[in-house]
Amino acid sequence: MTTQPRLRTSPIVLLAPLTGRVVPLPDVPDPVFSGGMLGDGIGIDPAEGRLLAPCDGVVSQLAGTGHALTITSEEGAEVLLHIGIDTVELGGEGFHALVAEGARVHAGDLLVEFDLATVRRKARSAVSVVAIANGDAYHIDQRADGDVTAGQAPLLTVRWASGTEQSAAAPPLPGEGPALRRSVRLTAPGGLHARPAARARHAARGLDARVEVLFGDRRAPVDSVVALLGLGAGEGTIVELLATGSQAALAVDAVARELVRAIDAETADAPPAALPRSGDAAALPPHVLAGVCAAPGIAIGPLVHAGVGVIDVPEFATGTAADEDHRLDLALAAADAGLTALVRNAPAAADIFAVHRVLLEDPVLLDAAREHVSFGKSAGYAWRSAIRAQAGVLARLDDPLLAGRAADLRDVEQRVLHALGHAPSPRGTLPDGAVLAADDFTPSDLAALDRERVAALVMARGGATSHAAIIARHLGIPALVAVGDALHAIRNETQVVVDATAGRIDFAPAALEIERARTERQRLANVRSTNRQAAGEATATRDGRHIEVAANIATNGDARDAVDHGADAVGLLRTELLFMHRQAAPGIAEHRAAYQEIVDTLQGRSAIIRTLDVGADKSVGYLALPPEQNPALGLRGIRLAQVRPDLLDDQLRGLLAVQPFGRVRIMLPMVTDVPELLRIRARIDELAEAIGRTARIEVGVMIEVPAAALLADQLARHADFLSIGTNDLTQYTLAMDRGHPALAAQADSLHPAVLRLVDATVRGAAQHGKWVGVCGAMAADPDAVPVLVGLGVSELSVAPLAVPDVKARVRGLDYTQCRRVAAELLSLASATEVRAASRVAWPHRG
Ligand code: PEP
Ligand code: MG
Repeated sequence: MTTQPRLRTSPIVLLAPLTGRVVPLPDVPDPVFSGGMLGDGIGIDPAEGRLLAPCDGVVSQLAGTGHALTITSEEGAEVLLHIGIDTVELGGEGFHALVAEGARVHAGDLLVEFDLATVRRKARSAVSVVAIANGDAYHIDQRADGDVTAGQAPLLTVRWASGTEQSAAAPPLPGEGPALRRSVRLTAPGGLHARPAARARHAARGLDARVEVLFGDRRAPVDSVVALLGLGAGEGTIVELLATGSQAALAVDAVARELVRAIDAETADAPPAALPRSGDAAALPPHVLAGVCAAPGIAIGPLVHAGVGVIDVPEFATGTAADEDHRLDLALAAADAGLTALVRNAPAAADIFAVHRVLLEDPVLLDAAREHVSFGKSAGYAWRSAIRAQAGVLARLDDPLLAGRAADLRDVEQRVLHALGHAPSPRGTLPDGAVLAADDFTPSDLAALDRERVAALVMARGGATSHAAIIARHLGIPALVAVGDALHAIRNETQVVVDATAGRIDFAPAALEIERARTERQRLANVRSTNRQAAGEATATRDGRHIEVAANIATNGDARDAVDHGADAVGLLRTELLFMHRQAAPGIAEHRAAYQEIVDTLQGRSAIIRTLDVGADKSVGYLALPPEQNPALGLRGIRLAQVRPDLLDDQLRGLLAVQPFGRVRIMLPMVTDVPELLRIRARIDELAEAIGRTARIEVGVMIEVPAAALLADQLARHADFLSIGTNDLTQYTLAMDRGHPALAAQADSLHPAVLRLVDATVRGAAQHGKWVGVCGAMAADPDAVPVLVGLGVSELSVAPLAVPDVKARVRGLDYTQCRRVAAELLSLASATEVRAASRVAWPHRG
């Protein structure tokens, strides 16, 4: 609930809500606050546990735990009061709210009493924050420093930012003569977006008239493109033109013509096409992009485009305001000259750059920037703040086309900052909690990742079972793939909320959303820590069906993680890494040493070691394999032995020498039929005999192609076990590339066709008393676990960090019910139906 704004233009003095010492916002020990994610503001290190209202207003939001609330002042400023850091984790302990949501309060009223000693002892910090949550509409003029007394000392002076949304009660137009009014329906595709706005502005130029455009309760002068965009007037809506001056009629005609004109090449201005999604992406707000979950979890932090450095801009000027104004003028001129050159070199993009040039002289932007400069800010900081205030306005509009124009503003922001001499800081200075964004990440990008600083990965492309996704799961970092090119339009350092589990990234989250995300992240962390406590124990369903939960690993470090997270065994050791990043293939001794080290680390647990599975998306340069038209259907996996039997021989010799015998099993990837299996089995026996090994080594088969699933009964006669590689089985069953971004949402392993193949595999194996595992990503998917258990799979092999959660999921299941429901799911028509049914039968919360 918000109060009706009134007297927006008068300054608002906020009294200190707490007694204590002022802490400048950048020094608040939490990047979410210090980075301004919840708005500009100030910290207070409290000396006593009483939170008072800083102004008159309404309690528009109150956290159930009582640690945070928002007061909407009578002028419309949203003042967030947050007691301590990470205090949401106290679950309300020590907090006593004396007001309810919706209550009207007066400056100095007591809002919350809290036990300061508890906060100091149990929370990360007692430093509390006062922030202006709608900072695009209000900015802070003055801040207190030193010690302040609650209810008495002024803490902040806040002022309405000119150029942002104006109320219908704005004063009438000045100018000679009566005002001329005309209604216009916006028939131009996309409504009042950047180019019609720029043309409308141009049309009115030079005429003796002042024109304003009114839409709903908003109004904008026609000479400010950003203000016009900020109206949020979409295609088909009606706006009113209001003009004064001797040439008002001419100006209104000219502007109206531009607003109804069909614009050429509209698509160049349109946001990138959205990718198809399995969910209802269309229903998402414009500041949320949908993607596909590659690794679950929630993160809140600054988005950093990989490869793009962060531009650090000092807040305060070192010289006078006049110096900074001059620097800004020079930079704007330089940016304009740069754009002119660009237009010459790239005429196709002339239209877009023409809009950028208009932005460089936009009065709203310039006024706002100069106002910041007059308050002692540096030219760069002033320009950035002016741009971001407008970008924030656009991002909140309920129109993706207009919201997408924020990218133009960001482009112009960067251009002027460069002209001011600000360069991106070198990589390696990632901000804490960074959300790293890229088109796609290669496995080596991820290997070089600063795990301490990266909170999430977001990719424009990629698939949920791509190798980048597999690595993200191993690292335990939430990851979102297939977000689409719109990801690139989010400016660097924007504070975002990534809910990878729900498949979404919010790049203009409201304070309440951030708080919700933090609460959910904490809940997940608590669940994870509880699950981890029981992870070391064997796992069975409630009615006693034993399920082995094993780990997928690639290195000895992963093996240590597997042990630490309670894995019962290793269900898949991917050996490709041993072959990568080197000049020649490893020799027998190297193979043996690598596997022996891992077996030793596993402290008695068994390991299924998969033979080399290169080809297709896993390439190894020095093998110099012949080029293939369609590598996914070429010499992949075990087929490689047809052309390079030496590679497989060396690996098998190394494997057979690992001690003690019996601890290691061999698994063959990409098998399609029995003769293939028998050939390799015979070779293994030969090599074993050659080194005098008499103990038989178990050999299993990966079920990754439909042929193998359909022939599971035959394969199981000769194999010791079957392990379903659902990543490849899904790609080959559905004929959908596992790394294809546009298919990422559809390439879902819960597709009934894939489930039928899982069912066929288990039935085939049962004929010969063999067990079946799943080592694809599906094994850790909470919707899929009950289905796989119900279909009769008895081993689930997952990323080491996922072991505790999968064990917990299994422990909550009833095998008899799983069997019955899973059998019914086989007759559903799509993965979407299967997922929905699974969530009804076995609800979970991420
Ligand atoms: C699979 O295909 O499911 C699998 C586990 O193998 P990889 O992901 O290494 O291809
Ligand atoms: Mg595979």
